[in-house]
Amino acid sequence: MRSSLGKDGICGVVAAVEARGMQKQLQQALRLTRTVELRLDWLRDDRQVARFLAWLRRFKFPAGMALLATCRRIEAGGKFAGGVVDQLAILRLAIECGCSWADVEIESAQRLRAGGLRRLLGPGGRMVSYHNFVRTPRKLETRVKRLEQAGGTVVKVATQCNTIADSLRVLKLASRKVRVIAVPMGEAGLPARILALRAGSALAYAPVENATAPGQVSLEEMKRVYRAGELNARTRVYGVIGNPVGHSLSPRMQNAAFVARGMNAVFLPFLVRELRDFLGAIRPLGIAGFSVTIPYKRLILRFLDDCDPLAAEIGAVNTVIVHGGKIHGYNTDYVGVLRALERRIALSGSRVLIFGAGGAARAAAFALARSGCSVCICARRPARAKALARKVGGEAILRARLRRENFDVIVNATPAGMYPRADESPLEAGELNCRLVFDIIYRPLKTKLMQLAVRRGIETVSGLEMFLGQGMAQFELWTGKRAPEAVMRRAVLNALKK
Ligand code: NAP
Repeated sequence: MRSSLGKDGICGVVAAVEARGMQKQLQQALRLTRTVELRLDWLRDDRQVARFLAWLRRFKFPAGMALLATCRRIEAGGKFAGGVVDQLAILRLAIECGCSWADVEIESAQRLRAGGLRRLLGPGGRMVSYHNFVRTPRKLETRVKRLEQAGGTVVKVATQCNTIADSLRVLKLASRKVRVIAVPMGEAGLPARILALRAGSALAYAPVENATAPGQVSLEEMKRVYRAGELNARTRVYGVIGNPVGHSLSPRMQNAAFVARGMNAVFLPFLVRELRDFLGAIRPLGIAGFSVTIPYKRLILRFLDDCDPLAAEIGAVNTVIVHGGKIHGYNTDYVGVLRALERRIALSGSRVLIFGAGGAARAAAFALARSGCSVCICARRPARAKALARKVGGEAILRARLRRENFDVIVNATPAGMYPRADESPLEAGELNCRLVFDIIYRPLKTKLMQLAVRRGIETVSGLEMFLGQGMAQFELWTGKRAPEAVMRRAVLNALKK
């Protein structure tokens, strides 16, 4: 079925203002896919369009390739300022230059008489598309019918998904018998965008360089990180939920681990604006487990069927396993803290200061107290420090005392010093009276606090070690397999370099 759209389901989107940029991107795209959309409306003027198409006419097409021409008008969310006649003339020329398909938006197609599209586009395949950059309207099925009636042999529905539930409705279109390209747009639609091919969509779009629609992932990510073209009904789906979630390195780390262990599994970032919206997607998407980040680590507890006693005591869950329709909560931040420190220091009997009294501080305090450390808590709100210290049988310390106190380890469990405010330090050099400083932050890898410590001859541990430790423990809980540490570390370090 897919052959005439190229053998790849993943369609690289080429969009540049100059012909030379389009040529460069097309060649880049061909390293990853044989299906490419050319956004001719992005070209600055008629001269650039003519120059690019002249080049295309001479281009030697690799076997099995499908080129789609698009010249979207401003009215339909594109950049082409001309009228329908000019638009169709450009698309016709693109077909004569080697494109096998032309994508015409419904707004243009509806202005033509019956059979007009076929006459004007000649031998090219006709794709008729509907875009809505504001919302996903009701009755999407009716839209699909209208696209078919307008002359599309393949129809495309691209709508802004403001919720995950919206994206499920768009995805459902892909299972229809007619050839539908389902494009859930927006960040909440991103997991569905990645799963669209698995759901039966004829294509999934991914830009080579410039994003042409909201919530896209790059062609490189779509192909190499998420392996969207290889996912099938047996693929186990995992993810991370949070708001925001776009910065999370967990997808890079966990997908690399799945590949290293040869598993048919994928890990997706879910932007969750409402927990119930995500919970409703667990069954339809077949989600087998997920990671929980800000702001849901506490809130998720209310929705669990079952919670690990330690996670319940900490009062935060960062890992969920879905089994037999029930959801079970765990806390692996706890394990992450221990994995980060155990290799560097004998914990039992050590005196540890935790700076901060939030969620990460709680996990650290429970982990360290249970490992036999004498735990001290200092926070900018002393009452919170006192409450946490009481929970773990530790001691609350006022900031003013820090210059006179000695510890084996000082843990920063606040976001102070995190990118982009990397020039800040939660503590001053004179307050670092210890053998080891552990900064829970991993962006940047060497924080200001760690630099102050090194200057005083104190050893340091980066939050990267905790991030890896908690992620490895998650992988092991979900899969029952040993986590590939070196691969996961490399994936995170590579992502941090970008
Ligand atoms: P949280 O629940 O919001 O707690 C943050 C704590 O830091 C609170 O006690 C807060 O005090 C305090 N704080 C914030 N800004 C401060 C400042 N400028 N000076 C002094 N104290 C400050 O956040 P969280 O979930 O614990 O996360 C804390 C940090 O750990 C974040 O940067 C997060 O990215 C990182 N983290 C890393 C890992 C890892 O794997 N490496 C895992 C989890 C978290 P108030 O209560 O007074 O606001």
